Amino acid sequence: MAVNRIIQIFRLDSLYSFFRKDKCSILMFHRVVKDVRIAGIEISEESFKSLIDYLKEEFEIVSLNSISKSEKRCAILTFDDGYKDNYTFVYPYLTERNIPFTIYITTDFLDKKAILWWYLLKDLGKDELVKSIRNGEIEPEELFRENGVSPEQYVEETLNWEELKEMSRSSLVTIGGHTTSHPNLRLLESSGVEFEIGVSKQRLEEELEIPIEHFAYPYGGKSEADEVTYSITEKFGFKTAVTTVEDNVRDQQSIALPRIPISGNSSLGDIKVRLSGIFSLKNYLR
Ligand SMILES: [Zn+2]
Repeated sequence: MAVNRIIQIFRLDSLYSFFRKDKCSILMFHRVVKDVRIAGIEISEESFKSLIDYLKEEFEIVSLNSISKSEKRCAILTFDDGYKDNYTFVYPYLTERNIPFTIYITTDFLDKKAILWWYLLKDLGKDELVKSIRNGEIEPEELFRENGVSPEQYVEETLNWEELKEMSRSSLVTIGGHTTSHPNLRLLESSGVEFEIGVSKQRLEEELEIPIEHFAYPYGGKSEADEVTYSITEKFGFKTAVTTVEDNVRDQQSIALPRIPISGNSSLGDIKVRLSGIFSLKNYLR
């Protein structure tokens, strides 16, 4: 990526970090896999391992609950949706290294009612429809019906309740909510938003017998979560909630914390640049 190259050559990221003195980076992952199919939500095991080595050297990797206690520049690892590899790969790998992490769960995925339309689009070679689905112009269920594919085809991509329960008992793992069905919350009436957030929180608390105090907005950009959504999250008593707006943590409200997206196409060099927070500048250009 040309912009990244220019930033690296002129060390603009280091300069930016020096002046901004950002406290913490919340990294956003979804899956860690052997072979990357959807770069936007997957990173390879190899890249993940080198990133963790780098973070261990340069950052203090803390849990979401310790965000304000860290003295050093801190990093927080978060995984959205609840994919199988979070249990089969991430959990043992990070546990062995005593590294805390958070998983945000969409409860329908664990109830095997998952509509993982992004994998269907990939298989159909129709990635260009991603935006139309996120905007609510196409119903994901309709896409499955039209193409004669059962949503069950993708159920094995996600965790099951037993796996989540086991992880929830680890002091290194924080479980957060990520709605019931992963909708674009801005397309719903406030009663719908309350249902999606409240029912999934209650479900997780009953299944796991722990308080659920953290939340991630599905899709999480400015077009999918706004002040109204934030206030509903606050009403449900969440301590923190994360968006997908790209930035480091400074003094933002705790129910709209920005994150640094990690994608399969990024090299370690690209990720280092991102961790400086320099790409947050684009948030001000709109
Ligand atoms: Zn998600």
